[in-house]
Amino acid sequence: MSGKAISTIGYRGMHSFDLFFDNIFVPDEDMLGGPKGEGKGFYFTMAGFSGGRIQTAARAIGIMQAAYEKALSYAQERMVFGYPIGDYQLTQIKLARMATYLAIGRQFTYSVGRLMDEGKGDMEASMVKFFTCKTAEWVTREALQIHGGMGYAEETPVSRYFIDARVLSIFEGAEETLALKVIARSLVDNAKSKAEVGG
Ligand SMILES: Cc1cc2nc3c(=O)[nH]c(=O)nc-3n(C[C@H](O)[C@H](O)[C@H](O)COP(=O)(O)OP(=O)(O)OC[C@H]3O[C@@H](n4cnc5c(N)ncnc54)[C@H](O)[C@@H]3O)c2cc1C
Repeated sequence: MSGKAISTIGYRGMHSFDLFFDNIFVPDEDMLGGPKGEGKGFYFTMAGFSGGRIQTAARAIGIMQAAYEKALSYAQERMVFGYPIGDYQLTQIKLARMATYLAIGRQFTYSVGRLMDEGKGDMEASMVKFFTCKTAEWVTREALQIHGGMGYAEETPVSRYFIDARVLSIFEGAEETLALKVIARSLVDNAKSKAEVGG
């Protein structure tokens, strides 16, 4: 490994580095799947991805929860024209939507977790990541919006939540890749096998 951490706009609690391999010899016994695993490393790696996906969904839930809590407390503290902003209906609607999406995401994540405990749910793990990560972008955006100009200041936690949420739809499977290569493909394959059995 060489070089320094790649500078990123957010998610700075976890750094990414360039990795270079030069003239590395891997003995047969250290190869994934043993000698029979040759050429299948990508598929072995893919097989572990569902765990990473539901775990990323859980991270999205955590970030949404934190953003929602900060938005709720700020809405009670911040006075504008003599009233806390939480007394204004537009803020209340924002909070209601945030809490609703958060509850949906959390219950969806739990239900996929239960499915995965039964050794199923590869497609659903992609679905829940796809949904919660995109939703986290919106919920953190609304939390920042409720904070007004203060939300854009690095000193407020919501500015970090907003920028950290952005990467969730990229790593552990970009949303387009999940939609195309996992979700849509599984849906089409399932429909085809049902048609074959039926007809
Ligand atoms: C902060 C951070 C941490 C990371 N940590 C890790 C890590 O720990 N381990 C690790 O292995 N990787 C890690 N990654 C890499 C990450 O998994 C990849 O960035 C991600 O999978 C997307 O791949 P890519 O960057 O090569 O994008 P590309 O594959 O170059 O895609 C670029 C864009 O094109 C879209 N696209 C690609 N194919 C299609 C298609 N067929 N049709 C339509 N659109 C398409 C993608 O969805 C994306 O929007 C990390 C990335 C970041 C930003």
